[in-house]
Amino acid sequence: MNWTEPPCPWPEPRRAAACFSVDVDAMAPWLWQHRTALPDTLAAREHRQYGMRAGLARMVAMLDRIGVRGSFFVPACVAEDNPTLLPGLVERGHEIALHGYFHELVAETSDARFTDALERAIDFFVAQTGAKPAGFRSPAWEMTPHMLRELRRHDLWDSSLMGHDLPYTIDGVTEVPVRWDVDDAIFFKFLEPGDRPPRLTPEVAEGWRAEAAATVRAGGLFMLTVHDWISGHPARVEMLEALFADLAADPAVWVATCGEIAAHHADRTDGLEVALDPLTAIDERGPFHG
Ligand SMILES: [Zn+2]
Repeated sequence: MNWTEPPCPWPEPRRAAACFSVDVDAMAPWLWQHRTALPDTLAAREHRQYGMRAGLARMVAMLDRIGVRGSFFVPACVAEDNPTLLPGLVERGHEIALHGYFHELVAETSDARFTDALERAIDFFVAQTGAKPAGFRSPAWEMTPHMLRELRRHDLWDSSLMGHDLPYTIDGVTEVPVRWDVDDAIFFKFLEPGDRPPRLTPEVAEGWRAEAAATVRAGGLFMLTVHDWISGHPARVEMLEALFADLAADPAVWVATCGEIAAHHADRTDGLEVALDPLTAIDERGPFHG
Protein backbone atom coordinates (compact mmCIF):
# COMPACT_ATOMS: atom_id res chain seq x y z
CA MET A 1 0.00 0.00 0.00
CA ASN A 2 1.38 3.35 -1.00
CA TRP A 3 -0.20 6.52 0.48
CA THR A 4 2.17 9.05 -1.04
CA GLU A 5 1.81 10.98 -4.28
CA PRO A 6 4.67 10.14 -6.65
CA PRO A 7 6.90 13.02 -7.80
CA CYS A 8 6.09 14.47 -11.23
CA PRO A 9 7.82 12.04 -13.60
CA TRP A 10 7.83 14.21 -16.73
CA PRO A 11 10.55 16.49 -18.11
CA GLU A 12 10.11 20.10 -16.93
CA PRO A 13 7.92 22.04 -17.62
CA ARG A 14 5.60 19.23 -18.71
CA ARG A 15 3.01 18.02 -16.19
CA ALA A 16 1.55 15.03 -18.10
CA ALA A 17 2.33 12.84 -21.11
CA ALA A 18 0.52 11.34 -24.09
CA CYS A 19 1.52 8.66 -26.58
CA PHE A 20 -0.12 7.61 -29.85
CA SER A 21 0.53 3.90 -30.24
CA VAL A 22 -0.53 1.67 -33.11
CA ASP A 23 -0.55 -2.12 -33.03
CA VAL A 24 -0.04 -2.95 -36.70
CA ASP A 25 -1.63 -6.38 -36.48
CA ALA A 26 -3.01 -6.57 -40.03
CA MET A 27 -3.38 -10.27 -40.96
CA ALA A 28 -1.22 -11.62 -38.13
CA PRO A 29 -3.90 -12.58 -35.53
CA TRP A 30 -5.96 -14.31 -38.25
CA LEU A 31 -2.92 -16.21 -39.51
CA TRP A 32 -2.06 -17.21 -35.92
CA GLN A 33 -5.62 -18.32 -35.20
CA HIS A 34 -5.63 -20.53 -38.30
CA ARG A 35 -1.96 -21.49 -38.14
CA THR A 36 -2.53 -25.20 -38.72
CA ALA A 37 -4.81 -24.77 -41.75
CA LEU A 38 -6.19 -21.63 -43.40
CA PRO A 39 -9.95 -21.49 -44.04
CA ASP A 40 -11.16 -20.97 -47.58
CA THR A 41 -13.08 -17.79 -46.73
CA LEU A 42 -12.37 -14.17 -47.62
CA ALA A 43 -14.33 -11.84 -45.30
CA ALA A 44 -12.03 -11.64 -42.28
CA ARG A 45 -8.80 -11.66 -44.25
CA GLU A 46 -10.02 -8.93 -46.62
CA HIS A 47 -11.29 -6.89 -43.66
CA ARG A 48 -7.84 -7.06 -42.07
CA GLN A 49 -6.08 -6.15 -45.33
CA TYR A 50 -7.81 -2.77 -45.15
CA GLY A 51 -5.09 -1.47 -42.86
CA MET A 52 -2.20 -2.15 -45.21
CA ARG A 53 -4.15 -0.97 -48.26
CA ALA A 54 -5.67 2.26 -46.88
CA GLY A 55 -6.03 2.69 -43.11
CA LEU A 56 -2.42 2.87 -42.00
CA ALA A 57 -1.35 5.36 -44.66
CA ARG A 58 -4.27 7.65 -43.75
CA MET A 59 -3.34 7.44 -40.07
CA VAL A 60 0.36 8.13 -40.72
CA ALA A 61 -0.48 11.09 -42.97
CA MET A 62 -2.60 12.49 -40.15
CA LEU A 63 0.23 12.11 -37.60
CA ASP A 64 2.68 13.77 -39.99
CA ARG A 65 0.19 16.64 -40.52
CA ILE A 66 -0.06 17.42 -36.79
CA GLY A 67 3.61 16.74 -36.09
CA VAL A 68 3.04 13.79 -33.73
CA ARG A 69 5.41 10.82 -33.91
CA GLY A 70 3.67 7.52 -33.24
CA SER A 71 4.91 4.25 -31.76
CA PHE A 72 4.15 1.36 -34.12
CA PHE A 73 4.23 -2.20 -32.75
CA VAL A 74 4.65 -4.57 -35.68
CA PRO A 75 4.56 -8.39 -35.73
CA ALA A 76 7.59 -9.47 -37.77
CA CYS A 77 5.41 -11.48 -40.17
CA VAL A 78 3.49 -8.30 -41.08
CA ALA A 79 6.78 -6.54 -41.86
CA GLU A 80 7.87 -9.60 -43.83
CA ASP A 81 4.71 -9.49 -45.97
CA ASN A 82 4.91 -5.68 -46.36
CA PRO A 83 8.59 -4.89 -46.93
CA THR A 84 8.15 -1.10 -47.22
CA LEU A 85 6.30 -0.85 -43.88
CA LEU A 86 9.16 -0.61 -41.34
CA PRO A 87 11.52 1.45 -43.57
CA GLY A 88 8.62 3.82 -44.43
CA LEU A 89 7.72 4.41 -40.78
CA VAL A 90 11.37 4.98 -39.82
CA GLU A 91 11.87 7.35 -42.75
CA ARG A 92 8.94 9.46 -41.50
CA GLY A 93 10.43 9.67 -38.00
CA HIS A 94 8.07 7.27 -36.27
CA GLU A 95 9.10 4.64 -33.77
CA ILE A 96 8.90 0.92 -34.53
CA ALA A 97 8.88 -1.79 -31.89
CA LEU A 98 8.29 -5.53 -31.52
CA HIS A 99 4.90 -7.27 -31.30
CA GLY A 100 5.77 -10.97 -31.65
CA TYR A 101 6.82 -12.78 -34.81
CA PHE A 102 3.42 -14.26 -35.69
CA HIS A 103 1.43 -12.33 -33.03
CA GLU A 104 1.81 -15.43 -30.82
CA LEU A 105 -0.82 -15.44 -28.06
CA VAL A 106 0.79 -16.09 -24.69
CA ALA A 107 -1.65 -18.82 -23.60
CA GLU A 108 -0.86 -20.77 -26.78
CA THR A 109 2.93 -20.27 -26.77
CA SER A 110 5.62 -22.17 -24.83
CA ASP A 111 8.50 -20.33 -23.18
CA ALA A 112 10.89 -21.79 -25.75
CA ARG A 113 8.71 -20.66 -28.65
CA PHE A 114 8.44 -17.15 -27.19
CA THR A 115 12.22 -16.92 -26.89
CA ASP A 116 12.69 -18.13 -30.44
CA ALA A 117 10.04 -15.74 -31.82
CA LEU A 118 11.58 -12.79 -29.97
CA GLU A 119 15.08 -13.50 -31.25
CA ARG A 120 13.92 -14.06 -34.81
CA ALA A 121 11.82 -10.88 -34.73
CA ILE A 122 14.78 -8.82 -33.46
CA ASP A 123 16.99 -10.28 -36.22
CA PHE A 124 14.33 -9.52 -38.81
CA PHE A 125 13.98 -5.87 -37.70
CA VAL A 126 17.79 -5.49 -37.82
CA ALA A 127 17.92 -7.02 -41.31
CA GLN A 128 15.18 -4.71 -42.63
CA THR A 129 16.07 -1.43 -40.90
CA GLY A 130 19.69 -1.78 -39.77
CA ALA A 131 18.78 -1.07 -36.15
CA LYS A 132 17.82 -3.19 -33.15
CA PRO A 133 14.35 -2.33 -31.82
CA ALA A 134 14.31 -1.02 -28.25
CA GLY A 135 10.82 -2.04 -27.13
CA PHE A 136 8.21 -4.77 -27.08
CA ARG A 137 4.45 -5.03 -26.70
CA SER A 138 2.82 -8.39 -26.07
CA PRO A 139 0.02 -9.60 -28.36
CA ALA A 140 -3.27 -9.16 -26.45
CA TRP A 141 -1.29 -7.68 -23.53
CA GLU A 142 -0.62 -10.89 -21.61
CA MET A 143 2.82 -11.48 -20.07
CA THR A 144 4.70 -14.13 -18.08
CA PRO A 145 7.73 -13.99 -15.77
CA HIS A 146 9.69 -15.80 -18.51
CA MET A 147 8.81 -13.05 -20.99
CA LEU A 148 9.98 -10.34 -18.58
CA ARG A 149 13.28 -12.20 -18.10
CA GLU A 150 13.77 -12.41 -21.84
CA LEU A 151 13.01 -8.72 -22.34
CA ARG A 152 15.56 -7.90 -19.63
CA ARG A 153 18.13 -10.16 -21.32
CA HIS A 154 17.66 -8.24 -24.59
CA ASP A 155 17.53 -4.84 -22.82
CA LEU A 156 14.03 -4.12 -24.15
CA TRP A 157 11.36 -1.94 -22.53
CA ASP A 158 7.79 -3.24 -22.43
CA SER A 159 4.38 -1.70 -23.04
CA SER A 160 1.80 -4.37 -22.17
CA LEU A 161 0.83 -4.12 -18.49
CA MET A 162 -1.46 -1.90 -16.39
CA GLY A 163 0.10 -1.82 -12.93
CA HIS A 164 0.25 1.98 -12.68
CA ASP A 165 -0.75 5.24 -14.36
CA LEU A 166 2.91 6.12 -14.74
CA PRO A 167 5.92 4.32 -16.22
CA TYR A 168 7.43 1.90 -13.71
CA THR A 169 10.04 -0.82 -13.48
CA ILE A 170 8.89 -4.42 -13.03
CA ASP A 171 11.45 -7.15 -12.42
CA GLY A 172 14.11 -4.91 -13.93
CA VAL A 173 12.12 -4.08 -17.10
CA THR A 174 10.85 -0.56 -17.85
CA GLU A 175 7.09 -0.73 -18.27
CA VAL A 176 5.17 1.96 -20.18
CA PRO A 177 1.63 1.04 -19.15
CA VAL A 178 -1.35 0.58 -21.45
CA ARG A 179 -5.11 0.83 -20.86
CA TRP A 180 -7.99 -1.17 -22.30
CA ASP A 181 -10.36 1.79 -21.94
CA VAL A 182 -8.40 3.78 -24.53
CA ASP A 183 -7.91 0.91 -26.99
CA ASP A 184 -9.95 1.04 -30.20
CA ALA A 185 -10.53 -2.73 -30.43
CA ILE A 186 -12.97 -2.90 -27.53
CA PHE A 187 -15.13 -0.13 -29.04
CA PHE A 188 -14.84 -0.62 -32.81
CA LYS A 189 -13.76 -4.19 -33.59
CA PHE A 190 -16.51 -5.95 -35.49
CA LEU A 191 -15.63 -8.92 -37.66
CA GLU A 192 -18.89 -10.72 -38.25
CA PRO A 193 -22.63 -10.56 -37.59
CA GLY A 194 -23.19 -11.58 -33.99
CA ASP A 195 -20.23 -9.61 -32.65
CA ARG A 196 -21.11 -6.80 -30.24
CA PRO A 197 -22.14 -3.77 -32.35
CA PRO A 198 -19.39 -1.17 -32.67
CA ARG A 199 -19.80 2.14 -30.86
CA LEU A 200 -20.29 5.32 -32.85
CA THR A 201 -17.19 7.43 -33.37
CA PRO A 202 -18.56 10.65 -31.75
CA GLU A 203 -19.48 8.72 -28.61
CA VAL A 204 -15.97 7.26 -28.32
CA ALA A 205 -14.47 10.67 -29.12
CA GLU A 206 -16.30 12.21 -26.18
CA GLY A 207 -15.21 9.42 -23.81
CA TRP A 208 -11.55 9.49 -24.85
CA ARG A 209 -11.44 13.30 -24.67
CA ALA A 210 -12.72 13.11 -21.08
CA GLU A 211 -10.14 10.41 -20.24
CA ALA A 212 -7.33 12.46 -21.78
CA ALA A 213 -8.38 15.61 -19.91
CA ALA A 214 -8.60 13.80 -16.56
CA THR A 215 -5.26 12.07 -17.17
CA VAL A 216 -3.61 15.43 -17.91
CA ARG A 217 -5.13 17.00 -14.77
CA ALA A 218 -3.83 14.05 -12.71
CA GLY A 219 -0.35 14.29 -14.25
CA GLY A 220 -0.52 10.83 -15.79
CA LEU A 221 0.17 9.13 -19.10
CA PHE A 222 -2.53 9.05 -21.77
CA MET A 223 -1.51 5.93 -23.74
CA LEU A 224 -3.84 5.52 -26.70
CA THR A 225 -3.73 2.25 -28.65
CA VAL A 226 -5.28 1.88 -32.10
CA HIS A 227 -5.00 -0.65 -34.91
CA ASP A 228 -4.26 -0.12 -38.61
CA TRP A 229 -7.31 -2.04 -39.85
CA ILE A 230 -9.76 -0.73 -37.21
CA SER A 231 -9.10 3.02 -36.85
CA GLY A 232 -7.90 3.92 -40.34
CA HIS A 233 -11.40 4.92 -41.51
CA PRO A 234 -11.96 8.64 -42.24
CA ALA A 235 -14.23 9.52 -39.30
CA ARG A 236 -11.97 7.76 -36.80
CA VAL A 237 -8.81 9.38 -38.19
CA GLU A 238 -10.51 12.79 -38.01
CA MET A 239 -11.47 12.10 -34.40
CA LEU A 240 -7.91 11.04 -33.51
CA GLU A 241 -6.48 14.08 -35.29
CA ALA A 242 -8.63 16.50 -33.28
CA LEU A 243 -7.76 14.74 -30.00
CA PHE A 244 -3.99 14.62 -30.54
CA ALA A 245 -3.74 18.07 -32.14
CA ASP A 246 -5.22 19.47 -28.92
CA LEU A 247 -2.89 17.41 -26.71
CA ALA A 248 0.13 18.49 -28.80
CA ALA A 249 -0.93 22.15 -28.48
CA ASP A 250 -1.13 21.95 -24.67
CA PRO A 251 2.19 23.20 -23.22
CA ALA A 252 1.63 21.04 -20.12
CA VAL A 253 1.58 17.80 -22.14
CA TRP A 254 4.65 15.92 -23.32
CA VAL A 255 3.55 14.10 -26.49
CA ALA A 256 6.26 11.51 -26.92
CA THR A 257 6.97 8.05 -28.27
CA CYS A 258 6.87 4.99 -26.02
CA GLY A 259 10.64 4.71 -26.34
CA GLU A 260 11.21 8.31 -25.26
CA ILE A 261 8.96 7.78 -22.25
CA ALA A 262 10.74 4.50 -21.39
CA ALA A 263 14.18 6.10 -21.71
CA HIS A 264 13.14 9.05 -19.54
CA HIS A 265 11.87 6.68 -16.85
CA ALA A 266 15.02 4.54 -17.00
CA ASP A 267 17.16 7.66 -16.42
CA ARG A 268 15.29 8.62 -13.24
CA THR A 269 16.30 7.45 -9.79
CA ASP A 270 12.97 8.21 -8.06
CA GLY A 271 10.62 6.20 -10.32
CA LEU A 272 8.45 3.34 -9.06
CA GLU A 273 10.14 -0.08 -9.02
CA VAL A 274 8.30 -3.29 -8.24
CA ALA A 275 9.58 -6.82 -7.79
CA LEU A 276 7.71 -9.79 -9.14
CA ASP A 277 7.02 -11.40 -5.77
CA PRO A 278 5.59 -14.92 -5.92
CA LEU A 279 1.97 -15.11 -4.73
CA THR A 280 0.57 -17.90 -2.58
CA ALA A 281 -2.63 -19.61 -3.65
CA ILE A 282 -5.45 -19.38 -1.11
CA ASP A 283 -5.51 -23.12 -0.43
CA GLU A 284 -1.78 -23.08 0.28
CA ARG A 285 -2.09 -20.35 2.91
CA GLY A 286 -3.13 -22.78 5.63
CA PRO A 287 -6.45 -23.42 7.38
CA PHE A 288 -9.06 -20.68 7.24
CA HIS A 289 -10.20 -19.58 10.71
CA GLY A 290 -12.83 -16.98 9.73
ZN1 LIG B 1 -1.79 -7.08 -31.53
